[in-house]
Amino acid sequence: MIDALLPVYARAPLAFERGKGVRLYTPEGEEYLDFGSGIAVNGLGHAHPALVAALHAQGEKLWHTSNLYRIPEGERLAARLVAATFADTVFFTNSGAEAIECAIKMARRYQYAKGRPERFRIITFEGAFHGRTLATIAAGGQPKYLEGFGPKVDGFDQVPFADHAALKAAIGPETAGILIEPLQGEGGVRPVPAQCLKGLRELCDENDLLLILDEVQCGMGRTGRLFAHEWSGVTPDIMAVAKAIGGGFPMGACLATENAASGMKPGTHGSTYGGNPLAMAVGNAVLDVIQTEQFLPRVRQAAARLQQKLGGLAAAYPHLIEEVRGEGLLLGLKLRPPNTEVVAKARDERLLLVGAGDNVVRILPPLIVSDAEIDEGIERLSRALAAFPAEAPAKVAS
Ligand code: PLP
Repeated sequence: MIDALLPVYARAPLAFERGKGVRLYTPEGEEYLDFGSGIAVNGLGHAHPALVAALHAQGEKLWHTSNLYRIPEGERLAARLVAATFADTVFFTNSGAEAIECAIKMARRYQYAKGRPERFRIITFEGAFHGRTLATIAAGGQPKYLEGFGPKVDGFDQVPFADHAALKAAIGPETAGILIEPLQGEGGVRPVPAQCLKGLRELCDENDLLLILDEVQCGMGRTGRLFAHEWSGVTPDIMAVAKAIGGGFPMGACLATENAASGMKPGTHGSTYGGNPLAMAVGNAVLDVIQTEQFLPRVRQAAARLQQKLGGLAAAYPHLIEEVRGEGLLLGLKLRPPNTEVVAKARDERLLLVGAGDNVVRILPPLIVSDAEIDEGIERLSRALAAFPAEAPAKVAS
């Protein structure tokens, strides 16, 4: 008999009742260290008092009015995101895939409004992940997500990761823009070097293409800057954000320059829930915390500690860990045994990690993680790794 829940996930046999900071608790009171953050969502940990207070206060006042009316908390959040970034304007969504959908539509519409309706194609990169809607699985291009869902949505050309020549060759008379994650998450924690982002910016400028960054996973402080692209000095035309922007409340955003958004007029796009007062209240509270002076420097400090300790584990277990990857607190271990086994063994030690492509395990603690919690996480991970046989196992195909 089919599950009452559509069985599209291979869930761990584990449920949590409550969380506090970096920790999660089962109904039986067992405590876990959450180094997965709900896949990079709980940037401020669980039950952050400022977020709980904001949601509670808004919940008492007003839940929903629709976008037929002004939503002052949303206007305020948009203005703050505009002030903090390259962007001039923001569209709020409920998820990352919707933020990407908005970005794709906006890029197509930009070219259309410039009198070039034939330019609708977007170049994307092998290993990318942009969501699970029909357009975003086409953008991501991964056969395992496309299989069985009919014709792939047209308009996406995928090129190999880090192959500038292939990228240049892929630009044609129908190209509207280039979509890339500055740091691939699901694809295996693969950073795009600053030099490559600069090259992409130049190619876009030379060809009047829009540079679209997917910062759904790597944005909102995860790399130690508000957005990952800030490390490169390059700014995009459009950027998709989600996950940690709501700290666990479902929301996303598509940010854009005035020029990139010039095709978007009243009626061209919409969402019933996007920018809803509950989401906007939480989003403002998240930003309040991330914008405190010490927040991002502390993320960088925590990241340096975690990276250094992971380097130590890689040196101690060379038969299990091939490489430490990533930036800030979006880190990955490229493994020799199957990553599912490492995730399961870490779970046995009450440490939550997340798998990724390329046989990588992701380590994404909440950004508020303390030094003591980092050390505890490393101890648990070390115990999990010690549970593997000492000799080198057969390498899994990546
Ligand atoms: N883009 C990236 C880089 C992601 O990591 C994800 C989700 O993991 C998405 C888009 C899709 O976001 P959502 O699952 O909220 O639709």
